[in-house]
Amino acid sequence: MSQEILSKIKDNKSLEGLSVLIWGMGVTGRALYKVCEDYGASVWNTDKEYLGFDKFIVQNEVIESNIKFDLILKSPGVPWLPELNFFKSSGVPVLGELEIVSLLSDTPIIAITGSNGKTTVCTMLKEAFDLLGINTFLGGNIGNPYSKILGNNFDYALLEVSSFQLELINEFSPLVASILNIVNHHQERHPTFEHYQNAKFNIFKNMNEFSHLIIPDELKKQVKGDFKVSAPKGIRNYSKMKVVGEHNQKNFQFVEEILNVLGMNTKVIDKLISSFKGVEHRIEFVGNFKGLKVYNDSKSTNFNSTLTAIKSFKNKEELVLFLGGQLRSNNVEEFLEIKKYLKDDQVYLFGQSRELLSRFFKSSKKEFLEEFFREQRFQDAILLFSPGFPSYDQFKNFKDRGENFKKIIQDNYKESIVL
Ligand code: ADP
Repeated sequence: MSQEILSKIKDNKSLEGLSVLIWGMGVTGRALYKVCEDYGASVWNTDKEYLGFDKFIVQNEVIESNIKFDLILKSPGVPWLPELNFFKSSGVPVLGELEIVSLLSDTPIIAITGSNGKTTVCTMLKEAFDLLGINTFLGGNIGNPYSKILGNNFDYALLEVSSFQLELINEFSPLVASILNIVNHHQERHPTFEHYQNAKFNIFKNMNEFSHLIIPDELKKQVKGDFKVSAPKGIRNYSKMKVVGEHNQKNFQFVEEILNVLGMNTKVIDKLISSFKGVEHRIEFVGNFKGLKVYNDSKSTNFNSTLTAIKSFKNKEELVLFLGGQLRSNNVEEFLEIKKYLKDDQVYLFGQSRELLSRFFKSSKKEFLEEFFREQRFQDAILLFSPGFPSYDQFKNFKDRGENFKKIIQDNYKESIVL
């Protein structure tokens, strides 16, 4: 039954006659609501705030309501609730955005996942496609709902996909997919590393002999399927690279291999290396303030990306690192590795994690970042804001945290900026 509905949607490119419940009305949920209306479904939603919409039903009354739903569309922010199991076991498909939109769209998909670097690689790729004159839709986890592709013509759908989205796929099948790296994180949503890795591996579960997976060499052994597999390659001259770090060279290599498997001109990579200015909040160069060089890496919400940021700078003795944020667990021992690169007096601890970290680092610690700047005038250093923890202890999100950091810098050093 469930399979029949999905095949019908795919073949007819229509939701005509179906009763659909949207579970969670965030950015994605609202976009899906519109898709359902546009494609002829009768749509229900679970969010009281959207009473303006036709049919609303309180979450914990969904089952009792006895309404016959043909399809449930779950927003990415909604956890897997018992009610969803109830529907699934009664044969009602529970789909995420990736699945439903890829059933309704025939645009070939390039999907990028991984623990770190997804947004950077997607942005690089989009710039490469633009340079090549290829009309690409960029969306997914990057903040532009995939559903916006519907009704428009594109050569490719370039999608940033998270492990949460991948957990929900049935038939989603990219033409080209890439797993950039896998490091242990999101312990709050995935009980074990294997669980997290398996969600990422879902990206290739429906891929076939026409599709291509690009992954680091070290993951190749763990991957099985009919599709083609290759690792990033293509060493270039990086002397004109505007962004810092070897990880960005890796990111360019992924981009090159993706162009390569699509049969596109890879010469464009040299141009991209010298033109790509990076993405805001990812080791973003804020400015040079009379010898004080400042970088904002607020997007770093895990240990691995902070370590990557530290490794991106040759002169480690010039680094001053601001570390801290919301605690995911009480296990912060991995951060000890920072000691291999920096002395304790080069590290400044802030936020909720500061007390726990101060067991390892005999470093200056304050609750709020701005307090360090009231007390001290930093000079002749590379100031690196790469918190390594989520931002929710003090900020709305990593963007809000990065803006706050840049404002502190502007307020304290604006007279000394070197243009
Ligand atoms: P994502 O979208 O996967 O969260 P971003 O491109 O937003 O990744 O980058 C997140 C963090 O990871 C930033 O601190 C960035 O500097 C770092 N980063 C970017 N590319 C890589 C990579 N290939 N390996 C490790 N860290 C990376």
